[in-house]
This record gives sequence, C-alpha cells and structure tokens, in this order.
Amino acid sequence: MNQAPKIQNFIDGEWIEPRSGHYLDNRNPATDEVFSKVPDSGPEDIELAVLSAQKAFPAWSEKSSQERADILYRIADGIEGRKEEFAKLESKDQGKTVDLALKMDISRAILNFRFFAGAVLHVENESTQTDSNTINFVLRKPVGVAGLISPWNLPLYLATWKIAPAIAVGNTCILKPSEFTSMTVDLLTQVMKEAGLPEGVVNVVYGTGAHAGEPLVKHPEVKLISFTGGTETGKKIGAWAGALNKKVSLELGGKNATIVFADCDLSKTMPHVLRASFLNQGEICLCGSRIYVEEKIYDQFLHQLIEQTMLLKVGDPSDSATFLGPLVSRAHRDKVKSYIDLATKEGGKVVSGGQVPKLGGGISRGYFLEPTIITGLSEDSRCIQEEIFGPVVTVSKFKTEDEAIEKANGVKYGLSA
Ligand code: NAD
Repeated sequence: MNQAPKIQNFIDGEWIEPRSGHYLDNRNPATDEVFSKVPDSGPEDIELAVLSAQKAFPAWSEKSSQERADILYRIADGIEGRKEEFAKLESKDQGKTVDLALKMDISRAILNFRFFAGAVLHVENESTQTDSNTINFVLRKPVGVAGLISPWNLPLYLATWKIAPAIAVGNTCILKPSEFTSMTVDLLTQVMKEAGLPEGVVNVVYGTGAHAGEPLVKHPEVKLISFTGGTETGKKIGAWAGALNKKVSLELGGKNATIVFADCDLSKTMPHVLRASFLNQGEICLCGSRIYVEEKIYDQFLHQLIEQTMLLKVGDPSDSATFLGPLVSRAHRDKVKSYIDLATKEGGKVVSGGQVPKLGGGISRGYFLEPTIITGLSEDSRCIQEEIFGPVVTVSKFKTEDEAIEKANGVKYGLSA
C-alpha cells in the first residue's frame, strides 16, 4: 500500500520533522482518502520557529522597503507561474472547485503579495500641529515576530493576506495554518525559498489549534497576533493576547443578511443571491446565509430561488460543471446537516435540498451536501442566530425597510450584508 506523502514544518528556511515525530491524516474531502500527512506540532516546534524568526528579524527589518518589495513581487510571480498546480492542490485539500480556487484563492494570493509590495513603497504617515512650536508625527516601525493563524475555508488566500503585510513592513513571522488545509501553504514555502526570501523570515508550523496554535499565541516573544477563524476561538485568543498586551487582529464569523427589495430586477439579482448563498459550499465568512425578501415578491422570489438552486451541480470539484464540491470534513458536514435537522424541530420547512446526495464513482464517500433552503423559522431560532458555515440558507419575509434592517442586525455577528 502506498504511504501518503508527509509535509514538514518550514523553519529557518528548511523543511523539518515535528519534534514529536507525530503526523495528522489529511483527507481529500471529495474521496475520503488520506492523501497526505501533516505535522502534529507542539510547543517545542513553536519554540524553534520563534528562535528562527527572532534571528531573522534584525536583517530583514533593516532592509529597505524596495528590497523587501522586490522579494514579495518575486513570490507573487512564483505563485502565478504555478497557479494551476496551486488550484488543483487547494481543491483536493479543501473541497472547493478547481475553477473557484483558481479564480478566487490563488488569484487573490498573487494580488496579496503584489498589493502589499506596492503599499510599502507608498507609505504616508499623519502629522498634527498642536501650536506653532509643536508637530506630532507618526512613525511606523515593525513590531518583531508576528504569530499568524489562518482557517481552512480560503487556505492560501487568507494565509497570504497575513504573511504579505507582516513581512512587507519588516516583521518576521510564524504561520499556523488550519490542520485541515496545509497543502497549498507547503507549496508556498517552496515558492518563497525560490524567490530568495531570507531564512527565518517566514516560518510555518503545522498542527492543531490546541497543540500548535495556543503556544504560538501565548509565546512571550511573539508580539503580534493575527487570527482569522471562528468567533469562539477568537474570544479565547483575544483574551490571551490581551493579558500579554500583544497587538491583536481578529477576523471572525458571520451570519450575513441578503436583503431583496420588491423593486429589484430579479433576473439580475438572482445570480448574485445564489453566489452569495452557495459559493464554496457556503463556507465563506461573507456568505449571505439569511435571505430577507420584501413580502410583495416573496412567493415569486422563493419559487425562482428553488428552481435555480436545483440546477446547481453538486459533485466532483475537478469537473468544471460543478458548482458545489464537498464540505471540508466529515465532522463539519455532519454539523451542518445537524442544523438542517434542527431547523425542522424549530418549526422550519426544508423547501429544497437538505440531504446527503448519492454520488457514484470515486466520490461516493465524499462529504457532500445538497444546497438547502429553509423557510418558516422565527428570528430567535438557532438556525437564524448561529453561523452554520455550509450550503444552507434561510428565507424570510419583511414588509418595510426598517423591519428588514432590524432583522438583518438582529444577530450577534457584524460582518457583512
Ligand atoms: P477555527 O476557529 O476552528 O480555526 C481557525 C484557526 O485557529 C485554525 O488554524 C485552528 O487550528 C486555530 N485554532 C483553533 N483553536 C485554537 C486555539 N485554542 N488556539 C489557537 N489557535 C486555534 O475556525 P475554522 O473552522 O478553521 O474556520 C471557520 C471560521 O472562520 C468561520 O467561523 C468563519 O466565519 C471564519 N472566517 C472568518 C473570516 C473573516 O475574515 N472574518 C474569513 C474566513 C473565515
């Protein structure tokens, strides 16, 4: 039997085994097969990465912005030169379609490096004049070692959205990607090395939140934490970072509203509603998972939404006709499905989807779920109040603009609409 290949932590410019020698199984969500092994790193690996990032900091932070920007541009070119390879790997790792990976994650990852390379060449700082003798000015300096923690839904895009600004301004960093999606970051480490990024400027430690993420957040020499992920995890990270007076940035969950007014052109609106609802299987923090429709067009809207949702193909993410691939893991698919079951108990009606589709061939064991539409829920139901993070939308009516805004704002999240 073939052994699934192992990836290694990237520390001080080298790929090295986790100290414990332990690895996690990384499954392809479309097939349920273990296709790679990912280091199950711990505090001792974080310690090595911190030492490496500290060692690299003086020389990196003293480089000119132009020198740093040149390397960032070369990393962007390196990703671009291998973008199909990145897209296929991202699809196999996370479940999004290859087309979407190419269009969204990989393209944005390239732009992230180019954007921050350009930004550091055009820095403007504020100054204020208090009186004729006093001018206060702002001088921004790198903080030191940055700890970066990213989620699984947009693996390369969100990892690079953290790495690029951190290193562009002269910090060095340690990235801990999601344990479910490490593969495109592994390819990125090769690209960064080929682009001439000095050793230790970017270090990557793979593993779980509990074993690798928590020691990274709590490490006293990691001065800045940038985290994207779930709200409950973010609360803990914010509290730990706050207690240690670290700079911290938290990008958390969402339960976003899509508001449809009766005077819209439905033929133009519907494609956007479908995209907002089901892109990346609904696994995007900005997905519009609560749809509010003005009463006058509610029936017509719902009819069209159901009709068009049923046309969305669920299946092999490498097939260009597919719109929804598998969810990231079996556990996550089961959690999303449990919300659909809960909706019925809460008085809702599943008017489309709701089932695990029966797919044949090599994807019969994948973590697929039909795009699902639920109506009839009250605003205080858990399915309306909690982030489900899957291909599930609720549809409700409103009469007035004020009512729509009140409902849109009636959840604990505050991300987008
Ligand atoms: P998650 O919170 O479970 O995990 C995110 C990352 O944090 C992973 O790398 C994980 O290993 C790590 N982690 C988990 N527990 C930790 C701990 N105790 N200490 C340190 N690190 C820990 O989130 P997820 O399931 O990977 O991602 C989905 C969530 O991310 C959704 O809620 C989604 O809305 C959110 N998200 C937000 C944005 C945004 O920009 N606001 C973007 C994408 C995703």
